[in-house]
Amino acid sequence: MVVMDTRSRPLRALRLSVTDRCNFRCPYCMPREVFGADYPFLDRKEILRFEEIERLAAIFALQGVQKVRLTGGEPLLRKGLPDLVARLARITGLEDLALTTNGALLQELAKPLKEAGLQRLTVSLDTLDPARFRKLCDTEIPLSRVLSGLVAARSAGFGPIKLNCVLQRSINEDEILDLARFAREEGHILRFIEFMDVGTRNGWKLDAVVPADEVLAKLSELGAIEPIPEPLNGRVVERWRYCDGSAEFGVIASVTKAFCGGCDRARLSAEGSLYTCLFAGSGLDLKAALRNGSSDAEIGAMITNVWKRREDRYSELRSSRTGGAPKVEMFHIGG
Ligand code: SAM
Ligand code: SF4
Ligand code: SF4
Repeated sequence: MVVMDTRSRPLRALRLSVTDRCNFRCPYCMPREVFGADYPFLDRKEILRFEEIERLAAIFALQGVQKVRLTGGEPLLRKGLPDLVARLARITGLEDLALTTNGALLQELAKPLKEAGLQRLTVSLDTLDPARFRKLCDTEIPLSRVLSGLVAARSAGFGPIKLNCVLQRSINEDEILDLARFAREEGHILRFIEFMDVGTRNGWKLDAVVPADEVLAKLSELGAIEPIPEPLNGRVVERWRYCDGSAEFGVIASVTKAFCGGCDRARLSAEGSLYTCLFAGSGLDLKAALRNGSSDAEIGAMITNVWKRREDRYSELRSSRTGGAPKVEMFHIGG
């Protein structure tokens, strides 16, 4: 089954947030002034239980979803995560099961996650400088934990691992080449992501964005580069490689070259609300349906009805947007 939205985009991918909590406080995502000790994170009974997530994922698969990515908050903070992965890995129709993490707990969890059936791993890494890391992630957890997590993930059999780096002008743009060299030497696929105006609290300004084209020009200092030819459909990442074959890398030009036209992703928040755009203001409460005795077919119909009405293309409209419409926070529905 393929469900199309109003712009002929199929529902193919689901980002599943398993917690709204995080052990980092990256200022562009969860600034400590806002997400301090008193912040009202979701209560245990408010977040979806594993059996509820499993049931919903199976319903999404019946509507045509083939790819699931676990995210958060920090997904590795969710207790018993390998058990959830094992449940999802068994669902017919889900061909791709991936996870995005800050890497801090990978050393302990990489092996059980791999054994449970997790196929792909993305680790966020904005800097290789320990002092800068402390500032950019606003955490007491040292960079060395993330780096040893990467080693553990590779020994557990993940690979190649994707590294996500959000670049900010004058903050970490001077590390483009160091990060690229590191990724190339370690066999990881580095992707530079343009800093986005997600949520309402990260003080985003357009001039803080380092455009993807500028990143590519910088990377060509390491050697000749060429794009990897690919169909455009559903593509978020522009894939590139060094002409000498030494590594692949990518840029995600979410601001300067919006890719809404191919956006096939739905997002489910930890408390079970369905969002059809990273920049959506409100979601559809699927938890209520799960807990009020609705059948799988009824919940499936709720999902397809929302998708069929979907018009979202926030990033394409960003440049013309003037108002401050309410938006959900990124940690809430996952990146
Ligand atoms: N905690 C996990 C992590 O950091 O990988 C998963 C959730 S995090 C919200 C997912 C991704 O979103 C991370 O790679 C993070 O760097 C990215 N992200 C968060 N805020 C962003 C922003 N304002 N612009 C671009 N990317 C952002
Ligand atoms: Fe946490 Fe990831 Fe957001 Fe950083 S980007 S605060 S690690 S959820
Ligand atoms: Fe998809 Fe919304 Fe991002 Fe456009 S702005 S690519 S519709 S999530």
